[in-house]
Amino acid sequence: MSIPATMHAWRKHKGNSVPVWEEIPVPSVPPTGLLVKLLASGVCHSDQALLDVEDRPQFNDVYTLGHEGCGEIVGIGPQVTDPRFEIGGKVALLAVPGCGLDTCSECSRDLAQLCPSGMHHGIGQDGFYAEYVGIDVRGAVPLPDGVPPEVGAIATDAVTTAYHGIVRRARVQATETVFLFGLGGLGFNALQIVHSHIGARVLVSDLRPEKLAAARALGVPKADIIPPGTSIPDFITEHGVQIDTVLEFVGAAQTFADAQRIVRPGGKILCIGTGERVNKLDMKNGIRKRLEFVFSYGGQYRDLQDVLGLTAKGIIRPRVKMGKLNEFPRFLRELGEGGVEDRVALVI
Ligand SMILES: [Zn+2]
Ligand SMILES: [Zn+2]
Repeated sequence: MSIPATMHAWRKHKGNSVPVWEEIPVPSVPPTGLLVKLLASGVCHSDQALLDVEDRPQFNDVYTLGHEGCGEIVGIGPQVTDPRFEIGGKVALLAVPGCGLDTCSECSRDLAQLCPSGMHHGIGQDGFYAEYVGIDVRGAVPLPDGVPPEVGAIATDAVTTAYHGIVRRARVQATETVFLFGLGGLGFNALQIVHSHIGARVLVSDLRPEKLAAARALGVPKADIIPPGTSIPDFITEHGVQIDTVLEFVGAAQTFADAQRIVRPGGKILCIGTGERVNKLDMKNGIRKRLEFVFSYGGQYRDLQDVLGLTAKGIIRPRVKMGKLNEFPRFLRELGEGGVEDRVALVI
């Protein structure tokens, strides 16, 4: 395969909140990594936040956006010995794989997603809204057969973040009763992880009837779907349900207040949604009920491996719409206006 000298990419320029479509050199093959021809890149709400952010000293002045990628290996670095990687093989790309060094303050504590020094593809450093990317093998997970690239792309963030929170942080068990707030880009994946993978009972609430219909179609019993406009604490009391774990994928003032009211004593609340930047925590309620508040951010290599495996088996079916890479600004605008129901993956 011949690799061109230049390519097109959507880039963030410091001082400009509008993405710039420009021609730049194709990166070289990293010695410990892969040159990947991108096949799909997921659009995320945080792309707009990244376009607006100007005050992070560790960010490059100009960089390629996109932190959910999937592509085909077209070059392999001389120091790569892992036989899972071969030319023509497909890989899903983890934007923040961590540096992996024992001397790293975070990687040494199994917190690779918080690594301060490793690559942050599309988050201050070159990402995946481009035709090619150079990536260390630490960020490349082989794509199982049968998983399309657009699904592989969105699995890296929208599914992996939900999975890490539910499985590794909140450690939700099959015997639990779970309440899920929000069936959006992450929340609908969360529902599939709890319902279809873990097998726990899950009650769901969302303001959008079409999301609730989708939950119903997935097999959530009608009695466990809270109709929009219903007082959730009243519903839980009336039906006598004991909620072991609340999955807060909204993070609005109302949902966070409801979460604290409906969770049973000794229960836990997983916080992922940031509808409001600041929310009220009822100290007395939390102490008397001996609650556990668990925050989660991003995911790790093994989470992405698990998620891709579950996707290949059809246990998780991420909902994704397709678009063209050159239409990125339009999809970002639609996402911001709430006009996109599912995640969008841009095909290169
Ligand atoms: Zn994201
Ligand atoms: Zn590190």
